[in-house]
Amino acid sequence: MTDRLYYHDSYLTEFRAHVIDASPDRKKVFLDRTAFYPSSGGQPFDTGRLGNAAVTGVEDEDGRIAHILSDAVDGDEVAGVIDWRRRFDHMQQHTGQHLLSAVLIDLFNAPTVSFHLGADASTIDIARPLEPNQLREAERRANQIVFENRPVAVSFEDSSQDLGLRKPTEREGEVRIVAIRDLDRSACGGTHVRATGEIGPILIRKLDRIRGTQRIEFVCGLRAVERARADYEALSAVARAFSAGLDETPALVAAHIENLQESDKARRRLATELAEAKGRELHAATAPSPDGLRRIQQRVPTLSDELRAEAQSFTAGGKSIFLALADNPPAVLLAASKDSGINAGEMLKTALKESGGRGGGSATMAQGSLESLERFQSSAVIQLFGRTASD
Ligand SMILES: [Zn+2]
Repeated sequence: MTDRLYYHDSYLTEFRAHVIDASPDRKKVFLDRTAFYPSSGGQPFDTGRLGNAAVTGVEDEDGRIAHILSDAVDGDEVAGVIDWRRRFDHMQQHTGQHLLSAVLIDLFNAPTVSFHLGADASTIDIARPLEPNQLREAERRANQIVFENRPVAVSFEDSSQDLGLRKPTEREGEVRIVAIRDLDRSACGGTHVRATGEIGPILIRKLDRIRGTQRIEFVCGLRAVERARADYEALSAVARAFSAGLDETPALVAAHIENLQESDKARRRLATELAEAKGRELHAATAPSPDGLRRIQQRVPTLSDELRAEAQSFTAGGKSIFLALADNPPAVLLAASKDSGINAGEMLKTALKESGGRGGGSATMAQGSLESLERFQSSAVIQLFGRTASD
């Protein structure tokens, strides 16, 4: 068993220890004592240096702590140094979690089911739903307790007595208890700050509903300040784009979106009207073939609503047929006037069956997707138009 120095002093950053076991390449070592925290209880491991090697992982292996190293370490005795920035940040997030979990029980009887300390934000899952105004209330209360700078103390107590814990523990024998004065007692092996003031600001972010549990995302300390700074800069950039004040921006953006949707609707209506006018003009400008039918054949990049409107308007003039071939994706549109003697739907369906496409439609308007335009070139539909070209 490794003597865990962080159990008694989470502010210890430097220590000396003896190597008691190591892998053959000496890039994984076990010490008699360590200040390095292994990943557990939702808190990630510490990094730092052991001798000349960087510590890249710390794992609890059945009570023995394994230090995973970048390089081999020599000798029986080593000096260890913890990356304090990373560790203190973890202490802030973890103590913040104890505080927030206790407040959520006190205010809303919402027990914490699990905790995860992430690289960007931390999360706690709670067992019952909360409203946004309840989250604001919890955040406010949590920060008040931060300002009160209540002591956070660690003790070791026997599990046979009533420990008065927020969440019962299944541990037997000696239990490590982390207590925030007049607020919380939790069985925990993690590293914590010594008073709530050191947590710094607590900022609740979002609430996600995930398979029946509610996940609250939060950040503490410098993370909260950095997050608020990033939020401010993002919002400022949006406000500048709208030449508006920060607080007016959300309403302004909503109004712009509404305008945009209305403009888009108007634009589509005008495009359809334009296409219909084009279809009428085309009908008037196209001379009938000897069989009395007006024919239009178009090659277009893609089939569109406007093209359909143009085809419909063209054939509405009577005695006419309209064909469009699209490249991307390969597709065909066939329209025929009622008095053309051609059933567009049936004709296209037969042609598609022969050329390996899919589609259909009514007697006056049909369309389909093609495997390739080349295979469709020999179809009866193309011949119907090709004949006029040679006339
Ligand atoms: Zn803890």
